[in-house]
Amino acid sequence: MRRACYPGTFDPLSSGHVNIVEKAALHFDEIVLAVAGVTGKSTLFTLEERTELCQKACAHIPNVIVKSFDGLAVEFAKSHDCKIIIRGLRAVSDFEYELSIALTNKKLEKCIETLFLIPSYRYLYLSSTIIRQVAQARGNLADMVPDDVRLALENKFKK
Ligand code: ADP
Repeated sequence: MRRACYPGTFDPLSSGHVNIVEKAALHFDEIVLAVAGVTGKSTLFTLEERTELCQKACAHIPNVIVKSFDGLAVEFAKSHDCKIIIRGLRAVSDFEYELSIALTNKKLEKCIETLFLIPSYRYLYLSSTIIRQVAQARGNLADMVPDDVRLALENKFKK
């Protein structure tokens, strides 16, 4: 079985993330969306909330499963029999950061490769940071996030 994992913080999952999952799902038998617990960043949503939102948003893709994890993505990949780690690349600005993660992962585990996917152009500008800022200012989140994520954000920032 060709299985890949897509690790990230997903705080929250955006339509760009979903676009990457949909693309990846066409090329693998199974995609494991891996939601990181301790990341060194403080998150708006708890790990349980982020995981549940990912599950809801990916329910329409039959060969995607969602798991949470702590620790190294390569350890997660190995323990779930994933030879490929998927990451998304939006712009040149992502490249340096993603390159250092990919090379570190290669150093840690040489049989795991990183595969970069580029989202459709309409999601290129999206980041979880921008989405949290728009939500906090009660802006229109249409097309930026799946519906359940939008509702969860509206709830978080309700007066
Ligand atoms: P991190 O893993 O650095 O905490 P995220 O959880 O935000 O980052 O994102 C996980 C992966 O998805 C990263 O590879 C990131 O570059 C990518 N990504 C983030 N936003 C988008 C987007 N709008 N379109 C495509 N890929 C994205």
